[in-house]
Amino acid sequence: MPVETFEFQVEARQLLQMMIHSIYSNKDVFLRELISNASDSLDKLRLEALRDDSLGADVSDLHIELEVDEKARTLTVRDTGIGMSYDEVVKLIGTIADSGTAKFLRDLKESDDPARSSAAENLIGQFGVGFYSSFMVADEVTLLTRRAGETQGSRWASDGAGTYTIEAVDDAPQGTSVTLRLKPEDVDDKLYDYTSRYKLREIVKRYSDFISWPIRMAAVPLPAGGDDTDTEAGTDGDAPTPAPETLNSMKALWARPRAEVSDEEYHELYKRISHDWVDPLETILLQAEGTFEYQALLFVPSRAPQDLYTQGYVNGLQLYVKRVFIMGDCEALLPSYLRFVKGVVDAQDLSLNVSREILQQDRQIQLMHRRLAKKVLSTIREMMTGSPERYATLWREFGRVIKEGLLSDRDNSEAILGISSFASTHDPSEPTTLRQYAERMGEGQEHIYYMTGDSRQTIENSPHIEAFKAKGVEVLLLTDPVDEVWVEAVPEFDGKALRSVAKGEVDLDSEEDRKETETRREQQRDEFAGLLEWMTERLSESVKEVRLSSRLTVSPACVVSDTDAVTPALENLYRAMGQ
Ligand code: ADP
Ligand code: MG
Repeated sequence: MPVETFEFQVEARQLLQMMIHSIYSNKDVFLRELISNASDSLDKLRLEALRDDSLGADVSDLHIELEVDEKARTLTVRDTGIGMSYDEVVKLIGTIADSGTAKFLRDLKESDDPARSSAAENLIGQFGVGFYSSFMVADEVTLLTRRAGETQGSRWASDGAGTYTIEAVDDAPQGTSVTLRLKPEDVDDKLYDYTSRYKLREIVKRYSDFISWPIRMAAVPLPAGGDDTDTEAGTDGDAPTPAPETLNSMKALWARPRAEVSDEEYHELYKRISHDWVDPLETILLQAEGTFEYQALLFVPSRAPQDLYTQGYVNGLQLYVKRVFIMGDCEALLPSYLRFVKGVVDAQDLSLNVSREILQQDRQIQLMHRRLAKKVLSTIREMMTGSPERYATLWREFGRVIKEGLLSDRDNSEAILGISSFASTHDPSEPTTLRQYAERMGEGQEHIYYMTGDSRQTIENSPHIEAFKAKGVEVLLLTDPVDEVWVEAVPEFDGKALRSVAKGEVDLDSEEDRKETETRREQQRDEFAGLLEWMTERLSESVKEVRLSSRLTVSPACVVSDTDAVTPALENLYRAMGQ
């Protein structure tokens, strides 16, 4: 068959032009794309060979290989996978059918950024762009391929300029090899020297470490003879070739059953992604099957980082698609009140070409987000009962940030309250959960009482809780700034209203006592009516009303708010926020 020349489809040509002229700073992703194609092709071959005995495919040594020719300045990415037929090459490589890439082009056309190149840069950064990304680093690309089970192979070649050629070849090995003639302008640029073995190792580690097929790099042949370190083997003139080096760890721990992975292995991965040197407090594995398959391996660190409450905080959640690294700091995966959780989420059916913006709206990601949040909360719940000490550490380190969820995640607020603990008048050293509080509630007590303030001491010294102390009624002491806000948003726990001791009327008496008190109070009200009226008038500038109180035992007077009014501390908070 002769060499045939084809024109690229219009969209393909546009994309290629952008690749060729790309000033995109992260060209490294081309290798991620080629390796992911190679890995897909090995997956496909394995599956097809399983389904079809008669395929006649060679499945003896499935792997990916990188080969560098420094003199010729070429880099080859080779796989022993499914390969492509002649027609498939025309269809798959010459056109852009892939929806992600088509979307990428549409977005690019729509973006009316006058500085076109910066728009392109931005978009390329967000999308993977598949096979064509080779043209970011190469001025000529040759692809040699043979489909498993077929005898004839094809050679495809292009300089990316508008046409490509294909010819049939007889002696192609099974699978695909893509050879890039690296651009001359990158020769002296260390950053883009893709003939550097060091550089290739680094890129594979970063993007493709968990690919489940071995990614090998052919070793440099040792020079024949002459060298001090050389052995006799070199003397016959042949260059002895050491075994190839495998660049990736292939250890996608999240894809393996928990029982097969040691804690050490999990911890090692945690340390690698979190840059923490302390073991995590908890390891969470979630393997979701069904229509939307994904795995998540999450870690709760043992301590809160310094910058957890700052703008620039980087959450340390990585998104993979079929073991290919897509992005770090993927905040779409968990709600922000769980931003201390680190780990890896690997989805099977997402496009490699996802952007951060798309992620936020993606329905599958939203489902994943919800499920992961629930999983983290339920794990904490289990820690609470199963491992109280570790739970106590978790709460000490992350309780404050988790409570943010009481405001932002209404769907889970009951669950969040359920895993929260608070300081309380019950025990000066141990915090209590609301459930424990509820269990201690006496006969006539209907509400859960709390008081907010700057510190435990100011609250305990406040006249507001005197009557509670005297009656032995427990009060929660809420001292985090966020407490001021969530108590307004969450009305009750387990059917029991949350009540501030600093607000409204407080009634601590039982049914019988109440009648008695009521009569006594009425008498007192009559008795003191004149005084109260006089005081209300005199203090009308500062207070709404002066009334008798049942909450004081020692102090003569205290200032209270209406039930629905803001507390003094919240007033301060609002004032600080400029409202
Ligand atoms: P995507 O991988 O997102 O489909 P690419 O541009 O990376 O887009 O590749 C286009 C298509 O070309 C792939 O879907 C696949 O069918 C085919 N292809 C690319 N590389 C290989 C390969 N190494 N082996 C077999 N098929 C390949
Ligand atoms: Mg691809």
